[in-house]
Amino acid sequence: MSTVLKRYTVHFKGLKTGKHIFNFDVDRTFFEQFEGSLVSNGNLKVEVELDKHTDILKFSIFIEGNVDVLCDRCLEGFSIPTQYEGQLAVRISDAIEGEENDDDIWYVSSNENEVSLAQYIYESICLSLPIKRYHGMLGTSIEGCDKEMLKKLNMLSNGPEESRQKPPADARWDKLKDIYNN
Ligand SMILES: [Zn+2]
Repeated sequence: MSTVLKRYTVHFKGLKTGKHIFNFDVDRTFFEQFEGSLVSNGNLKVEVELDKHTDILKFSIFIEGNVDVLCDRCLEGFSIPTQYEGQLAVRISDAIEGEENDDDIWYVSSNENEVSLAQYIYESICLSLPIKRYHGMLGTSIEGCDKEMLKKLNMLSNGPEESRQKPPADARWDKLKDIYNN
């Protein structure tokens, strides 16, 4: 794991049972670690509350901030606010070796002493994004839409359709023209 992503790790081994708070910042360097990331830049705060028990770690994760996305209409980048709240349980046990992690429950063996939350945080931010993103949503300005680009995109999407509607040129007429011209 990269040194950037190592920052998003909770070292639970030495902690007393009970509640502990961890804070992380997410920025461009974070998103750069994920190949083909849906998000290239953002500024978010992550607050993690760990409720530690002897055999289970209960995480409550709250993420809030802004991320840069592309506008569906004009394809320009812009920033939207986003928020995520979720729970993750990590069971500590050697009896469950080979158990697959799923979305809300992970497994670690008793000789582990840390849990990396980087992937969880990344996926949670992506999940928190609306499916459609456009200038004018969530308090952003519709004026941000690139008007020149909208014009060009309109021309592109209308252009081929118009030409498809025209009947295809009939080759027989060209042959007839040749006959008359001779
Ligand atoms: Zn736009």
